[in-house]
Amino acid sequence: MGTDVLVIGGGNAALCAALMAAEAGASVTLLEAAPREWRGGNSGHTRNLRCMHDAPQDVLVDAYPEEEFWQDLLKVTGGITNEKLARLTIRASSTCRDWMRQHGVHFQPPLSGALHVARTNAFFMGGGKALVNAYYRSAEKLGVQIRYNAPVERLEIENGRFVAAWVGQERITAKTCVLAAGGFESNREWLREAWGQNERGEWPADNFLIRGTRFNQGVLLKHMLAQGADPIGDATQAHMVAIDARAPLYDGGICTRIDCVSLGVVVNTEARRFYDEGEDFWPKRYAIWGRLVAQQPGQTAYSIIDSKAIGRFMPPVFDGVNANTLPELAQKIGLDVNTFMQTLNDYNAACRIGTFDHTMLDDCHTEGVTPAKTHWARTIDTGPFYAYAVRPGVTFTYLGLETDETAAVRFGGVPSENLFVAGEMMAGNVLGKGYTAGVGMSIGTAFGRIAGTQAAQAALSGVAP
Ligand SMILES: Cc1cc2nc3c(=O)[nH]c(=O)nc-3n(C[C@H](O)[C@H](O)[C@H](O)COP(=O)(O)OP(=O)(O)OC[C@H]3O[C@@H](n4cnc5c(N)ncnc54)[C@H](O)[C@@H]3O)c2cc1C
Repeated sequence: MGTDVLVIGGGNAALCAALMAAEAGASVTLLEAAPREWRGGNSGHTRNLRCMHDAPQDVLVDAYPEEEFWQDLLKVTGGITNEKLARLTIRASSTCRDWMRQHGVHFQPPLSGALHVARTNAFFMGGGKALVNAYYRSAEKLGVQIRYNAPVERLEIENGRFVAAWVGQERITAKTCVLAAGGFESNREWLREAWGQNERGEWPADNFLIRGTRFNQGVLLKHMLAQGADPIGDATQAHMVAIDARAPLYDGGICTRIDCVSLGVVVNTEARRFYDEGEDFWPKRYAIWGRLVAQQPGQTAYSIIDSKAIGRFMPPVFDGVNANTLPELAQKIGLDVNTFMQTLNDYNAACRIGTFDHTMLDDCHTEGVTPAKTHWARTIDTGPFYAYAVRPGVTFTYLGLETDETAAVRFGGVPSENLFVAGEMMAGNVLGKGYTAGVGMSIGTAFGRIAGTQAAQAALSGVAP
């Protein structure tokens, strides 16, 4: 018999599970598909986690009570969430940071461009890369055996119990197992299949970019679903951001975000607006824009601002296209100038400007134009003007495995005694759709820790042979 607990995956959820299991006294082996230099999955790209708190706490200002966090989740998911698991995640987010610090994670107040989330989100000093590196160091110290270049292709499961994992020709046994191998966002074929062909004959997924790791191919997720594990979520639901169209296919990361949508208008390749750019604060809305752009012709759109917006958002790494006049801008980005000017003139004429305040849901709105812009609507009239081409950037997919408060994988409604799941592979239990910034790491941390604890307990108590 090999190790007590086998953890499959090498990102935040896997590491939290491995650390908890090792702390509980279990022997732990962690299998990471990526080579060492690419370890950490999407977690390496993150910046923060969303935390409930009833009073100011170190880097977090004011309070963010359980009920408000829950209401935020309810709103973005449109109710497609498991309240019990959501509240469990929320409560766990209020207590996990001391444990994280013990494993070498440091926090910092947000940079000025991210002040919207100063109250709700704790930022990792050095970002997700530093967090992942700290956890790997801590895991090594605790004796966790870490193997890189170890993509698991399949599991042996007997009557809902984990028996062994296969990496190539190698069979790896363990008493218990935690699955934390991410979603299937890096698997372009699967995305293509899930999104299918649209009414224009396009395959939208062909124009998607993947914001994070190339290693989350969903091999284990597909395998588990084929083995009869209970599924959760919809294959077309994902966290999708509208990102710089010039971003690389994989691993463009955070710096490819275009964060000026709420300060201007967004038009599609037909030069028409298609959604309320000022519906809510950007951290609550950025993750729907990838999907909105995915529904537009050519899966491309343009975020348009004027010089009044400059300095009010985190600037993209690469400059946008700029021009001194709007017709010139339309020409430079290849849009029909007449339609573009009609759209901009209609929007400008519809603006009812009250007191502009980007830090609150202000009263600047449009009247008599469809779609409306409900906040931060100011005329786009002061050159130079800027345009950023955007495409859908998939962050992570929501199709996963159904679970409960023990993080057990379930087969026909029956929880497995020795197979657990955490992170993106089960995030769909809490996030049926939509997103609110930082909750991915809250879910991964909460369920990674639960899965590790449960896996160690099952291994050490003899429940698992
Ligand atoms: C650019 C970007 C920014 C983000 N920013 C934030 C943020 O600030 N806050 C937030 O909460 N969330 C953020 N997210 C989302 C966040 O990354 C995820 O919710 C979280 O990291 C999921 O953790 P995980 O451990 O489940 O997955 P991952 O961190 O992706 O880890 C999955 C791991 O499994 C490994 N793996 C995959 N298949 C196999 C296999 N077959 N065998 C073995 N190993 C395998 C991968 O190599 C990887 O190490 C961001 C994501 C991206 C892409």
